[in-house]
Amino acid sequence: MNLNLDHILILGAGKTGLSVQKWCMQNKVTCTLWNGDCDDHSNVKMENVTCVVISPGLKPSHPLPKAAKQLGIPVITDIDLFFSKNPTVSNHTFGITGTNGKSTTTALLHHIFYNTNQKGNAFLGGNIGTPILDLPVESVAKYVIELSSYQLELSHRLNLFAAVLLNLTPDHLERHGSMAQYSIDKMKIFDGCQYPVICIDDAYTLDAYNNVKKHHNFVAISCTQKADYYVDDRGMLFIKEAPIASLTDMPLKGKHNWQNILAAFALAHISGLSPDLIVQAMQSFKGLNHRLQTVKKLSNVTFINDSKATNAEATEKAIKAYHDKGLYVILGGRAKEDGLKSLYPLLHHIKKAYLIGEAADNFSEILKAESVPHTISHTLSAALKSAYQDALKVSDENVVLLSPSCASFDQFKNFEERGDLFCQIVNNL
Ligand code: ADP
Repeated sequence: MNLNLDHILILGAGKTGLSVQKWCMQNKVTCTLWNGDCDDHSNVKMENVTCVVISPGLKPSHPLPKAAKQLGIPVITDIDLFFSKNPTVSNHTFGITGTNGKSTTTALLHHIFYNTNQKGNAFLGGNIGTPILDLPVESVAKYVIELSSYQLELSHRLNLFAAVLLNLTPDHLERHGSMAQYSIDKMKIFDGCQYPVICIDDAYTLDAYNNVKKHHNFVAISCTQKADYYVDDRGMLFIKEAPIASLTDMPLKGKHNWQNILAAFALAHISGLSPDLIVQAMQSFKGLNHRLQTVKKLSNVTFINDSKATNAEATEKAIKAYHDKGLYVILGGRAKEDGLKSLYPLLHHIKKAYLIGEAADNFSEILKAESVPHTISHTLSAALKSAYQDALKVSDENVVLLSPSCASFDQFKNFEERGDLFCQIVNNL
């Protein structure tokens, strides 16, 4: 992309916008920062602007990018800017997108590259952690970047070496307008990509794959059927027909993580790594904090922090991952519209629930109706201590699980703060 960077107008002053501003300062590029939250857009002058860098939180239909386009000024993202300044880096960049599992897959692939003693560094960024312009530029490094649908919607041709679309379920439709448009925006990750990979396990990704496979050489991966790379229902990972490794022994627990492991495996294999090396590196990946994170084991009790489970669908995955253990679950916070709905078929797996926050009374009614033992603990600290005491009394392998099915905002700043408190209390037990 040929860009005139005499004067960049940065739209949005969040994490992305501030990183673009820092980059401009370091590279002596004139820039103006427009803070969407408090600056009136009617005061923005476009006269000297040669390029607009838009933050993912802003819609392309916003008056400022629209006005820029009408004046013929390119509207790009920080990702476009990074690749336009470092065009060869895209040849060793791996992109990850999907509705769920992006961060886990991105972190796992980065972990594999980082732990396989390859030539050069491995960097992780984009929608996870470090904005892309803050990453160091090294000619032999591997870049693993998470891309959200908002970033993809606004980005231009990325020319990545390899990329994966994990799954598509209805999400962010207020922004994308329809499932069809959401899918089109996500598929932009493959523009100019040498090794495009799609997991064909839901109707939307399967549809997208069927539409493109005639024209392009897509790699199909699956956890439900045979494909170029697949996992069978017993958790065995295959390349074509050849069995490679069982995923049931991996430290990353839960069937939903099989898709993430498979995707990271496929990309690592496409990069040229041997299956043995990849599997070995995966054995030491413990998962991301706050997502089925094993915090500690004290005698027969394992403590799991799944604070990222802000809705019942996420808790459903956690219960499925640990249903063979005695489950003592901390639920509650600010409830979502559907409450505990998707947990109903699994409630019998819960030995006892400990209810916290705003949702406690309502959840208590639901659990009472389903005859699930529970107590109202109000606070996380009280819930955790009661759960631990109860779990110690029963000599089986037990799990104390924080997987609240709720947002945290009634008692915490965010889910990270809630999960950090859980870990802190556990570590002091
Ligand atoms: P994202 O970055 O896309 O939000 P994460 O890796 O942070 O995804 O996982 C967030 C939550 O999504 C997890 O706690 C889990 O409940 C669920 N999840 C993770 N991977 C998948 C997957 N492949 N399919 C469905 N749900 C998943």
